[in-house]
Amino acid sequence: MTRVQVGIVGAGPAGLLLAYLLRRAGVAAVVLEARSRAYLEQSPHRIRAGVLEWGSKEILRQAGLGERMLAQGLEHRGVYLAFDGALHRLDFPTLTEGRSIWVYGQQFVVQDMIRKHLEEGGEIRFEHEVVGLEADAEGLALVYRSAEGATGRLICDFAVGADGSHSGLRSQIPGVRVHQKHYPYAWLGILAEAPPAAEELIYASHPRGFALFSMRSPTRSRNYLQVGVEERLEDWPEERIWAELNLRLGGVARVEPGPLLEKSLTPLRSLVVEPMQHGRFFLAGDAAHVVPPTGAKGMNLALCDAVLLCRALLAYYRRGEEGPLLRYTQDALRHVWQAELFSYFMTTLLHTPDDPFENGLRLAQLRHLAESPHLQRFLAENYVGLYTSGRYAFWEEGVPA
Ligand SMILES: Cc1cc2nc3c(=O)[nH]c(=O)nc-3n(C[C@H](O)[C@H](O)[C@H](O)COP(=O)(O)OP(=O)(O)OC[C@H]3O[C@@H](n4cnc5c(N)ncnc54)[C@H](O)[C@@H]3O)c2cc1C
Repeated sequence: MTRVQVGIVGAGPAGLLLAYLLRRAGVAAVVLEARSRAYLEQSPHRIRAGVLEWGSKEILRQAGLGERMLAQGLEHRGVYLAFDGALHRLDFPTLTEGRSIWVYGQQFVVQDMIRKHLEEGGEIRFEHEVVGLEADAEGLALVYRSAEGATGRLICDFAVGADGSHSGLRSQIPGVRVHQKHYPYAWLGILAEAPPAAEELIYASHPRGFALFSMRSPTRSRNYLQVGVEERLEDWPEERIWAELNLRLGGVARVEPGPLLEKSLTPLRSLVVEPMQHGRFFLAGDAAHVVPPTGAKGMNLALCDAVLLCRALLAYYRRGEEGPLLRYTQDALRHVWQAELFSYFMTTLLHTPDDPFENGLRLAQLRHLAESPHLQRFLAENYVGLYTSGRYAFWEEGVPA
């Protein structure tokens, strides 16, 4: 049995950034993670997201976690929309007062955070699966099972469930409400040793379905196809995937096939948990909200929660203020719903529905967007992170020191 100030469940972007920022500010935090370090850092099942908003990039840089990201990541100053056989570019700096985004894989973000946190004396207990949360006279107890099958308890002042989209800890909030929406689409994703279709991301809308052309480096592409939720991976051999990708590009660019490093199917859904806290227990990241990947918001929201919760915990430990902790759900849901709105907007704007009426509305909006600086600004501001534009003044406060 050990005692710490903050016990964190999950070594994803949310849990790791929170632990790192707290330790840096002098608060003792321990992370309990069910998987091994090698699985988190190397498994193809953990490749996931790759777009950092302007503010996320700034937070990592200011926190001292950005060295490799700045050296190896790719700054993107725009994205392309492809439809009706033409390419339309949205220039982020022009539309967002100089902002851009950073393309850098989630697995690299996680590797950087684990390495830095451990080097600086932080504690992550890998292969420790949390199986319960109990409250007693001493505080909260996270009950865990280690790889050897031994059980133990981590006693803490505060516990944080950053245990991802299938969170088992969510149900620890009495009366919790889970607002969900399932879309009739899934994404067939590939990571390939092949040059990207273009130097920036292409969001392609085609009568056969949506396709996203993204990358992890100048020689490694990450591409996605809209497919039905009932689709099976084995029905998509490599040749079929490359042919379909090129078809959906509609002649505006081409992808050259290369060896596949990963292939996955992800159904699209939106989910918001309310409230995100109970007593001294808090949720952060995907445990509290899930977005369809169309808006590239998942990892960014997780980092955002970590900063918000860190600020609230520091206000408590340094000044005895409970207000920011009590307001955590309210403050977090503001940016969560904004990201949900944008992810929903992008999903319905770009995916081809079965219903011809809905498809007609969708195409009207897409064509309007290509001509309207106002709609383009809406898209660009949300894409680079709306709370970076000064409107919510969220990131301007910087990293908690
Ligand atoms: C297949 C897939 C593809 C994605 N693609 C994109 C994308 O293209 N763009 C985008 O923006 N976002 C994408 N996302 C979303 C993005 O990856 C998530 O939003 C992000 O990982 C959230 O970070 P997190 O820290 O909240 O959760 P996670 O990264 O899921 O971390 C949670 C951690 O908790 C651990 N854990 C779970 N239960 C326990 C337990 N009981 N005890 C101890 N540890 C536990 C898990 O092993 C995991 O390491 C994708 C997600 C998935 C699943």
